[in-house]
Amino acid sequence: MPTTDSIMTTKLYWHDSRLRQFSAQVVDCFVQDGHRVVVLDQSAFYPGGGGQPHDTGTLNEVRVLAMSLGEDGRMLHHLDGDMPLKVGAVVSGEIDWSRRLEMLQQHTGQHILSQAFWQLFGAETRGFRIFDQMAEIDLTLDVPPDELTAAMTRAEELANAVVFDDRAVRLHTVTPAEAAQLPLRKENFNTDCIRVVEIADFDWSPCGGTHAQRTGEVGLIAIHSWERAKRMTRVQFVCGRRALRDYRAANQTATSVARRLSVGRDEAPEAVARLLEEHRQLGRRARALVELAIKAEAQELLETTPMTHKLRIIQHIFDDRDFDELKLLAHRLVTYDGVVVLLATRTREMARLVFARSTDLTVDVNTLLHAVCVRLGGRGGGKPDFAQGGGTRVAELERALVEAATALTV
Ligand SMILES: [Zn+2]
Repeated sequence: MPTTDSIMTTKLYWHDSRLRQFSAQVVDCFVQDGHRVVVLDQSAFYPGGGGQPHDTGTLNEVRVLAMSLGEDGRMLHHLDGDMPLKVGAVVSGEIDWSRRLEMLQQHTGQHILSQAFWQLFGAETRGFRIFDQMAEIDLTLDVPPDELTAAMTRAEELANAVVFDDRAVRLHTVTPAEAAQLPLRKENFNTDCIRVVEIADFDWSPCGGTHAQRTGEVGLIAIHSWERAKRMTRVQFVCGRRALRDYRAANQTATSVARRLSVGRDEAPEAVARLLEEHRQLGRRARALVELAIKAEAQELLETTPMTHKLRIIQHIFDDRDFDELKLLAHRLVTYDGVVVLLATRTREMARLVFARSTDLTVDVNTLLHAVCVRLGGRGGGKPDFAQGGGTRVAELERALVEAATALTV
């Protein structure tokens, strides 16, 4: 006689994936990591495995947060809150049907999609996972990158044709010898008693998960995206209710973009392309205009700055000026002979500086700038004829620049 501890939980979901409510006897009950854990003689809760997450639901109206598999095939129901139960007590369980439906749609959809990739491209499925929003399979799909989109479309078409056929999904429990006679899609399994899921005239796969009874239940199978990963092709997909949610989200995104552009939804990509081209042209034009403006500004600064000791020291502080523009101005100014440029722009928090000099001079503006930046509590650097930097002690800026200019003339 086995002890109560080693009795394997009878899997009610094994033969009936639509069973939502059930009664069962408590076999064991204990506390683990602060949560009450209950073991039953039978259960409709899927404990998780094979890429499919566990079910949730209630036991005597207490939330079942998680499921796991204990030793000897015992299924552990992890409860939210304490509910001491005596061994032998009868409890009523109910699975969260909405979650189960979503899981069986993704799982059955996976069987169909995997077979489609196998039939069309000889690609095996090496991995499968259902996540919160998306499911994914890892395929040994060997298709050139530029043919991937077409391959995905073909697999999607075949998979959905099988859905629209509304074919029967049948379960068979077989021995390894019997399994060997079946046209099974290659997958790993190592139990004595094998459950095989048959999708009529399409796919035979050994699997212990929960599935639809007919392919129509799966609803739309939509490939969301794909990527190359570890020499495999990883395909993300959504089925059934998830496909509906994903369509709704995609439609809303496309519609809101189109509305901003005042075009119909399907004209949005072309409208965005036009907008980007316009943006590019405007950017080019703006740069040309800035250059013209800088030229004029440089001219004016030169004309209004007197010579001191054979130098024209152009020293100016701007408020919150674009730094690239400032550098452009400095470059422009030093195209004239005998010019030293000490320019700065400031905000309340930060001062930025650019120092430069004409090529006919030898003064080292890099050393000069470095000293000013240190005084401003910052850093800077460059070459003897062009340097940039900044600091945060903005209040020191004016005096520091005046002193830098003075240092040039002594
Ligand atoms: Zn399965």
